[in-house]
Amino acid sequence: MAAPTASQARPAPGFPFLLPGRGEGAAEGQPPKRKKPPCRACTDFKSWMRDQKKQAASETGAEEKEPNPECPLDREELGRSSWAFLHTMAAYYPDQPSKTQQQEMVQFIHLFSKVFPCEECAEDVRDRIRRNQPDATSRQNLTQWFCRLHNEVNKKLGKPEFDCSFVDQRWRDGWIDGSCD
Ligand code: FAD
Repeated sequence: MAAPTASQARPAPGFPFLLPGRGEGAAEGQPPKRKKPPCRACTDFKSWMRDQKKQAASETGAEEKEPNPECPLDREELGRSSWAFLHTMAAYYPDQPSKTQQQEMVQFIHLFSKVFPCEECAEDVRDRIRRNQPDATSRQNLTQWFCRLHNEVNKKLGKPEFDCSFVDQRWRDGWIDGSCD
């Protein structure tokens, strides 16, 4: 089979992005398109696959394989990496940002909530941001705002809440016990 051309490999236009599995019927006069795989970023695909493999392994006595870090992200991995980026970005935000920096940060957060490639998560975050506007007036306010947002998502997912007084140790300075030195 021939390799896809650059234009074939490019995602279909549309905003928010057309996710795999949506609206992918062939246009009239066009060859039928290859069936797209499920959207990994929309589902916890790898966990599901791991469970399937674990079950198969326990039935056959085979050894379980380590997940491959060079594969596309599923929802959990995408979430973990995205939170790491967002908290780190906030951790290095200026203590006294200019008006422009504040506006740009607030704009970025709104745009992030539109392009985040887990549609359900993005919709949920947009809703939360509408009710609780980003506070980019200082580094302290921004790190705490992100911490509270993340805790809301933790709560929704049944995960433990994070103590926001430790946000700088977690994302900027390292733990005072020296475990990150
Ligand atoms: P994560 O929640 O990814 O956290 C990573 C690390 O951040 C933790 O190990 C901890 O050290 C630290 N941390 C935890 N809480 C806080 C906090 N409050 N402040 C600072 N640091 C903290 N998944 C869904 O299934 N449904 C959703 O609707 C959904 N919405 C999401 C929205 C956004 C914007 C993002 C970025 C992710 C979303 N996710 C969602 C993914 C989900 O939040 C987790 O990232 C994913 O389940 C992996 O969880 P985890 O247990 O590895 O830790």
